[in-house]
Amino acid sequence: MNPLSDMHVHTSDSPDADIPARSLVRKGKENNLGGIGFVAHLDLNPEDFCYASFNAAAYDESINRAGSEAGGRLSVMKGLEVGEPHVYEKQVKNLVDYSNYDFITGALHSVEGIGMVLGREVFVDGDPMEIVEEYYAETLRIVEVSDIDILAHMGLFRRGLALAGLRYDFNEMQLWPETIDSILKVLIERKIALELNTSGLRRIEKVTYPIPAILERFRELGGTLVTVGSDTHREPHVFFGLKQGSALLLKTGFREAYAFVDREPQAFGLA
Ligand SMILES: [Zn+2]
Ligand SMILES: [Zn+2]
Repeated sequence: MNPLSDMHVHTSDSPDADIPARSLVRKGKENNLGGIGFVAHLDLNPEDFCYASFNAAAYDESINRAGSEAGGRLSVMKGLEVGEPHVYEKQVKNLVDYSNYDFITGALHSVEGIGMVLGREVFVDGDPMEIVEEYYAETLRIVEVSDIDILAHMGLFRRGLALAGLRYDFNEMQLWPETIDSILKVLIERKIALELNTSGLRRIEKVTYPIPAILERFRELGGTLVTVGSDTHREPHVFFGLKQGSALLLKTGFREAYAFVDREPQAFGLA
C-alpha cells in the first residue's frame, strides 16, 4: 500500500463539491492511498460561496459511513477547512467543538476589505501586487493567532491572477522575503503544517501552492511538518497531482509527510 495520505479532500457535504465521502473512500482504495483527510468548508464570511453551509451532524454521518466503507484498509480523518480563522475563529468555535475533529485547516480565501482571491474580479479592479502583499500580511496573522493544524494552499491568489490574465510567474520569496520568512518561522514554532496543495497543477498556472521556492525555504529554516493535499472537489480531478506533489517534496529534501489523527501529526514515508 502507498502510505500517502491526501489531506485536503472535499465531499458533497460542501456546496462546491459533489462526491460523497463514501465514494471517495472507494476511489482511495482503488488508488491504494494510505489515508484521506476529509475537509468541509466552514466559512462565516458572507462573501464566500460556502457561507454558513456547514452542517456538523450531516458531516459526521457522512464521515462515519466513509469509515465503514474503508474497513480499516485506509485511514479516514475528519477535518474542517475554516475560512479566515484570524477573523472568524471565535464564532466558529461557538458552532463546533474542535476536539471532535482530527485536524483543522486554516484557509485564506478573501483578503479583508478587498475581496475574494479565488476569482478574477478583485484583481482587475485593484493593484494586483498590493493585493498579493496584503494576502501575505493576512496569512501571517492567521498563523500567529489561529488554532489550526495545517495552513492551506498558501499562494492561492495565483488562481485569480491567472483567470484575470495577469502575471503570476513572480517569486514572492524575492519580493517580500521578510514576510514570507516570518510566516514560515511561525509555522515551525507553533507546529502548524505547511500544506503542499496540488490543485494549481491542474489550473492555468500549473504550479503548486505554495511555489517550490517557498517549500525550499521552509526546509532550509528547519521545517519538517508538511502535508500533501489535492483539494479534490469533483471529477475528473479526484486526488489530482499527489504523485507530482510527493516527488516535489522528496526533491526538496523531505523524506516524510504528515497526516493528522486527533489533532496529532502522524508521519508517513514519501519514498
Ligand atoms: Zn480553500
Ligand atoms: Zn479546500
